[in-house]
Amino acid sequence: MIEKFLAKELIERIEGKLQRNFGREPEDATKQQIFRAVCLVIRDMMSELWLENQEILNDPVKKQVIYLSMEFLPGASLRNNLFNLGLSEAFQEALAAYGQNIEELYELEPDAGLGNGGLGRLASCYLDAVSSLEMAGHGMSICYEYGIFKQKIQDGNQVETADDWLSLGDIWLIEKEDEKEEVHFGGKLEEVWDDTGKMKLIHRDYTTVIAIPKDMLITGFDSRVVNTLRLWQSTSPISIDMGLFAKGEYLKSMEEKHKAEVISKILYPEDAHEEGKMLRINQQYFFISASMHTLVKNHLKVSENLDDFHHHYAVHINDTHPTMAIPELMRIFMDEYDYEWESAWDIVTKTISYTNHTVMPEALEQWPENLFAKLLPRLHSIVKEIDRRQNANLLKAFPDEEALRNEMAIIHNGKLRMANLCVTASHTVNGVSALHSTILREKLFHGFYRMTPDKFTNVTNGIAYRRWLCQANPKLSELIEELCGPGFKKDASELAGLLAYQDDASVLERLRSIKKENKLILAEYIKNHNNIIVNPDSIFDVQVKRLHEYKRQLLNLFHIMDLYNQLRENPQMEMQPRTFIFGAKAAAGYYMAKQIIRLACQLSAQLEKDPAVRDRIKLVFLENYSVSLSEMIMPAAEVSEQISLAGKEASGTGNMKLMLNGAITLGTMDGANVEIYEAVGRENMFLFGMQVEEVDQMNQEGLYSPWCYSQGNANIANILELMSKGINDVSFMDIVNSLTTGFNGASDPYYVIADFESYKQAQKNVTAAYQDINRWQKMSLANIAGAGIFSADRSVKEYAERIWGIDSIYDIL
Ligand SMILES: *Cc1c(COP(=O)(O)O)cnc(C)c1O
Repeated sequence: MIEKFLAKELIERIEGKLQRNFGREPEDATKQQIFRAVCLVIRDMMSELWLENQEILNDPVKKQVIYLSMEFLPGASLRNNLFNLGLSEAFQEALAAYGQNIEELYELEPDAGLGNGGLGRLASCYLDAVSSLEMAGHGMSICYEYGIFKQKIQDGNQVETADDWLSLGDIWLIEKEDEKEEVHFGGKLEEVWDDTGKMKLIHRDYTTVIAIPKDMLITGFDSRVVNTLRLWQSTSPISIDMGLFAKGEYLKSMEEKHKAEVISKILYPEDAHEEGKMLRINQQYFFISASMHTLVKNHLKVSENLDDFHHHYAVHINDTHPTMAIPELMRIFMDEYDYEWESAWDIVTKTISYTNHTVMPEALEQWPENLFAKLLPRLHSIVKEIDRRQNANLLKAFPDEEALRNEMAIIHNGKLRMANLCVTASHTVNGVSALHSTILREKLFHGFYRMTPDKFTNVTNGIAYRRWLCQANPKLSELIEELCGPGFKKDASELAGLLAYQDDASVLERLRSIKKENKLILAEYIKNHNNIIVNPDSIFDVQVKRLHEYKRQLLNLFHIMDLYNQLRENPQMEMQPRTFIFGAKAAAGYYMAKQIIRLACQLSAQLEKDPAVRDRIKLVFLENYSVSLSEMIMPAAEVSEQISLAGKEASGTGNMKLMLNGAITLGTMDGANVEIYEAVGRENMFLFGMQVEEVDQMNQEGLYSPWCYSQGNANIANILELMSKGINDVSFMDIVNSLTTGFNGASDPYYVIADFESYKQAQKNVTAAYQDINRWQKMSLANIAGAGIFSADRSVKEYAERIWGIDSIYDIL
């Protein structure tokens, strides 16, 4: 158990921090200073817990996981840490003594937005679970000075502004100057022969960048185990070249420093998309090299050599972005510790495991070989050797299948394919939902699966459900606790206890009234931010996620435009009012995604202008979708739009957060939607659209003609016409063309038009179900009750048992 603190003790501590850090008494401290003082008090408590476990953690036979990810999306930490430590009430009371409301401090905190979306959020959910399960595990990533951009909507267009999260978010970071590392870029390789006649490679003329660790402490719920998320910040060993400065070359004298610092300056804002950029390679190698050096050093503090490295560390690669861990570990073992290739390879491959997050070709990382060789010559030579040896294996395994061998090669046509390198070097490879893992085995990695079937497994994603239930939706959480006891906070499967109440009219009524209260809170937010008054009795229909064509926000907009056309034609039409809520950031350079945002915004304005429709359908585009915003939206949502083209969404996790809050999924058989369906049954969700097999068949036949569809379907033709003629006086010809004739590629590649009728019917079913209040609430309850398996605790337990080989640090060995 974690110590309890009285409000009185906390007041003393907070006052102490205010006095010593800011020279202020509470009555003349600013809100920011109080926020900082409170965080510092909590940080001290977390540090004490962290120190308590250092001895166990440094024991080389107690294995720990190192979770490598280019992205982490922790969101805000204050509320989460207080909740995990069981100190929310005590701090609330302490702050009340100053007339401070803790909610206001929560609102003050900027999100740590060191990720784009689902992938980074998953990494953060897993760290929470590792700590909550009292396991040892650390995240490693980059301390981006600017995280994911802040999105503003101006004149219906997305505008990006810099996210200066460190101005207050730095309060959670502890700089460990003494644990800094050197990272070497560029230069050339030289072969030298030592006295014993052994050839050694010497790396010369490289550029050195310093990596400084900034540690964020990660608490778990009701757990004494505090782990760290280590974020590396880049800097130069030379802050200024005095020679150049003396010559009057002022800008040049600081160039080295700027070049080094640019590495950790900003997060690439592309989600599920890669571009072969130099800075991106530098970012990856920077955090990987620093991280691997730290692991090796720490291991050698407690062990004689690196032979047992894999007993100490399970190194996990979150998507291919950290793949360089493979050649970098090989390099350190061979060049710095004199290991032979075979023994180094043996240890490295027992250490590394890999999660694939996408099958979409544009997201699979491939580096131009010549660029890679220039930036990282030694890593390039190691990857070449891995490829050479792998090719020999492939030739043995598939002597008569040249095409397959080419597909599986690590280096091919002047490109380094990171996914193939990962699969080759990992002891385990997993997808993130049952369907996605099947697609990996049967398609993307089929050759590898034939060679090494036991390597492949599935771990369905999960979420830090306490954040979206207990913290974000306290009323629902209290109701569940009252009905089922507090056990669900430790064991999400206990949510199933709710099913006992599915026919209890008073419970269903309380669920309804909680949803209504949450809708009112969101309605207030919408009024203040969008200047739109929404009807709290309308259906809150939510699609929040990154903007990507495969996620098909456009299909949702098609349905709204169709309703609009119908209402204009038939103004007397009876319909259950709906509020369509969108939240989505588009990558800054993703033209079509930005057009779709523009369409949503113009449609919103057009509907609002039209007195004949605005009381029945409304569209609200909430700007700057982020973890904190999601915590307000999920509790108020009633319909969860999960409408990606089947086979494209690896798992999704927004779908899990929404069902947990009682929203009902309207979705395709894609990603984890399939498992939601298995958990709640057909009667508790709305399924539509083509299945993966049908999509595959359509692709193979190659006969799909969206233009023909639209000719045969007046509703679709009308929608296309509306978009061409203009919505709120803006025409969307590029979107129309992308669907009908193709815009820089195939027409309607994500089958929006093909799935439209099926989607429309499913939407009709939603309305019908909603009108039966009892039925709807029962569905809602079934979704909350069935959400237990989507806990990140469950996912992490599976990783721990089946992949990493770790367990609670308190378990006797
Ligand atoms: C959960 C989450 C996501 C992932 O949403 P999907 O619907 O699974 O794509 C993205 N961004 C944020 C801020 C989230 O909290």
